Amino acid sequence: MRTKFIFITGGVLSSLGKGLAASSIGALMESRGLTISMLKLDPYINVDPGTMNPFQHGEVFVTDDGAETDLDLGHYERFTHAKLSRKNNCTTGRIYDTVINKERRGDYLGGTVQVIPHITDEIKRTILDVADSCDLVITEVGGTVGDIESLPFLEAVRQLKGDLGRENVCYIHLTLVPYIKTAGEVKTKPTQHSVKELREIGIQPDILLCRTDRFLSPEIKGKIALFCNVEPGAVFTAKDVETIYEVPLVFHQEGLDEKIVEILNMWTKAPDLSVWEEILRKSKNPQGEVNIAVVGKYVHLRDSYKSLNEALTHGGLANECQVNVHYVDSEEIERNGGMDGIIQADGILIPGGFGQRGVEGKIQAIRYAREHGIPFFGICLGMQLAVAEYARNVAGLEQAHSAEFDPDTPHPVIYLMKEWVNYQTQAIEHRDEESAKGGTMRLGAYPCHLERGSFAFAAYKQKVISERHRHRYEFNNHYREPLLAKGLRISGVSPDNELVEIIEIPDHPWFLGCQFHPEFQSRPWDPHPLFREFIRASREAKRR
Ligand code: GLN
Repeated sequence: MRTKFIFITGGVLSSLGKGLAASSIGALMESRGLTISMLKLDPYINVDPGTMNPFQHGEVFVTDDGAETDLDLGHYERFTHAKLSRKNNCTTGRIYDTVINKERRGDYLGGTVQVIPHITDEIKRTILDVADSCDLVITEVGGTVGDIESLPFLEAVRQLKGDLGRENVCYIHLTLVPYIKTAGEVKTKPTQHSVKELREIGIQPDILLCRTDRFLSPEIKGKIALFCNVEPGAVFTAKDVETIYEVPLVFHQEGLDEKIVEILNMWTKAPDLSVWEEILRKSKNPQGEVNIAVVGKYVHLRDSYKSLNEALTHGGLANECQVNVHYVDSEEIERNGGMDGIIQADGILIPGGFGQRGVEGKIQAIRYAREHGIPFFGICLGMQLAVAEYARNVAGLEQAHSAEFDPDTPHPVIYLMKEWVNYQTQAIEHRDEESAKGGTMRLGAYPCHLERGSFAFAAYKQKVISERHRHRYEFNNHYREPLLAKGLRISGVSPDNELVEIIEIPDHPWFLGCQFHPEFQSRPWDPHPLFREFIRASREAKRR
């Protein structure tokens, strides 16, 4: 079967949940037995989101091949089985970068290089390149229709219907239908205007997905269809829901997947949504609850910890319990000794992070977890600081620290490894203080060997695992002996035993730090083993 394409655009305003809508449509198409891939087009000029501030942009999601991508790719992976790589996220910056490089190389033979056709052709190439041999590619166009930035993307998407044929392309537009209290009714005007804008660009949507807080009546749907020139049966309610994993089921009840396959003229098997029903059943009927303190810096912006939040929720699903996440600002701990949030928690988690701010507060939280037998989970920076805390307060290595925060520490237990093998490219990389901010991060999937009898092995139940990384600093092998002698356990290492990937404290209910980011690989239907075990241990600690 030839690959078909769905394009999802957004209107009226941002944050309507286009990424979730795209992911849910992906889940529905897979439930019908189709193979899919997903693509996010981002209108900003950054070549990739790797250097963007998490306060502004939210989390940077990392794929197996080490691409630093938009957080929507995290949703795609949590809702579908699509294998994502650097091909599945593209920005305006990358498109221009490619075109300008081609121009410099002389590929355009002296011709004038223009937005149409050169930029739009490059966009089309990027979209078609994702297809491989799958049945369907779902592309989410970032931004809101009407933005200057997204115009070239929309123009390319418009052209593709002509290039590929009517039955191979489906345009879905997500809009807002607000309920206005004083009028006592929902309003369709913003949707009408947004579709008008889309049609001016030359795109007639096939399907409208209307985000609302209530189900739309057939009359309202009929009115929207009439004014927006879509079929009466092609207007769907995207109703607000309690949990994001309900979205595929709500879309299905509305008949969205049926309409999509009709428009694309695809024959599929009947949808099997039992996996989603089971996830929803578990999340709506928890058998208890557990309170987790997440000690971090970006606590006011939940998007910065998107995958982490989801992985914690999945850990709850695995234990059929509700996970209440309490964010604790580590700078608050430093300033006012604000340990209340820590003391009340059943489990303490320190996520990844960059920069000096709040580091000592995190170390205080780790010490508390270690000394009071509270389950502790340190991820990336959280693991590095757990090593520093152990070195200082158990092994007596005064002022031990990560060289990232104290370049003059007498005991750089975490440091920049001068030479390391990049598993993605197999190249030997060199790193020093100078290159620290450049492209020298350890990125993407690396294999790790586990030690039998450890917390990690008990969780994964296998010897070799693969996890994703995004960091520069590493455990300093010089300190292996002294720390092991004082009771620290190294339970995960790279196959050549050069890189320490997991540390544990054996005589503790559950204390584990990992250099990688397990949250990227957790799925609602397959919760990550470390999150499952962390939540289990926290729940047991609570009962004691
Ligand atoms: N800042 C640390 C490093 O670069 C940790 C990074 C992270 O937590 N992702 O090694």
